[in-house]
Amino acid sequence: MAILLAASFDDDEWAAWWPLLQAALPNEQLVRDRDAVAPHEIDIALVANPAPGSLRDLPNLRLIQSLWAGVDRLLGDATVPVDIPLARMVDPLMNATMAQTALWAVASLQRGFFDYAAQQREGVWKQHALRRADEITVAVLGTGQMGQAAAQLLTRHGYNVLGWRRSAGPLAEVLARAGIVINLLPLTPETQGLFNAETFSRMPRGASLVNLARGAHVVEADLLAALGSGQLRRAVLDVFATEPLPATHPFWSHPAITVLPHIAAPTDPRSAAVIAARNIAALRNGEPLQHLVDRTRGY
Ligand code: NAP
Repeated sequence: MAILLAASFDDDEWAAWWPLLQAALPNEQLVRDRDAVAPHEIDIALVANPAPGSLRDLPNLRLIQSLWAGVDRLLGDATVPVDIPLARMVDPLMNATMAQTALWAVASLQRGFFDYAAQQREGVWKQHALRRADEITVAVLGTGQMGQAAAQLLTRHGYNVLGWRRSAGPLAEVLARAGIVINLLPLTPETQGLFNAETFSRMPRGASLVNLARGAHVVEADLLAALGSGQLRRAVLDVFATEPLPATHPFWSHPAITVLPHIAAPTDPRSAAVIAARNIAALRNGEPLQHLVDRTRGY
């Protein structure tokens, strides 16, 4: 049997992933062109934003292993078979990278480092009063793999951290206490557009939003309005409804928005190839699969 790598990689990504996957799967036949073998010979698909239709008509498919942590695009692709186990990438290294990004954003907001960067562009030498970490309350929305790592790191650095997950109480109570809100929710029908005028109105005036999850969580026009009115002070955004962020998008030049090009926690092929290979070995050995997606929950 063969493993299909279905990915929308550029040349550099193929050059990085292909040898690492081959090294991690020495006893497997790995193909990147599905026509290289007969459809019935493919029993596992490794996927990273596969083109729609890539997994159609594979009669012996037994596992879809995503190389990415988020699976919203896969679940939104009607050509991905719904009756095949789907596993997502969970990598402690990626969780730690995400936590590092969250800490950078929170520390920068607390200490005014974004303001100092703007001051440098204007040649302004002005010192602002210090706010201590223990004077800042951070709400981490989504306390899964990434959210827990972020919450733990922030707590170790002295911030007051509130977590929010499905089983937690009303979101409004958490928002009302948060000077900084970090979004680490998966994108599902329930969470799409969660950050809107109503949500922003629940946050204390002058609070900041850090979106490290998915662009479609945020209603962009509402965010611009909240920043414009001063209800929100700043937004740090790593993800956008359209990526790459279009050149004419108002976020690029907005003085209260920091734009990152979806780099909060990139998959590292060096560790991820080994983790994917471990799940493939589990399948071959009849052992339980790790990190299966619950399709009814959407994550
Ligand atoms: P995860 O382990 O599945 O955790 C998801 C968390 O969100 C869980 O705590 C879950 O609650 C909570 N949740 C889900 N739906 C909810 C709802 N409707 N209301 C309240 N809480 C809800 O996911 P993860 O690995 O931490 O990843 C989170 C997201 O980060 C991914 O889906 C992806 O979109 C994004 N991401 C971004 C980057 C980047 O570079 N920017 C990189 C990787 C991932 P329960 O605990 O109650 O189940």
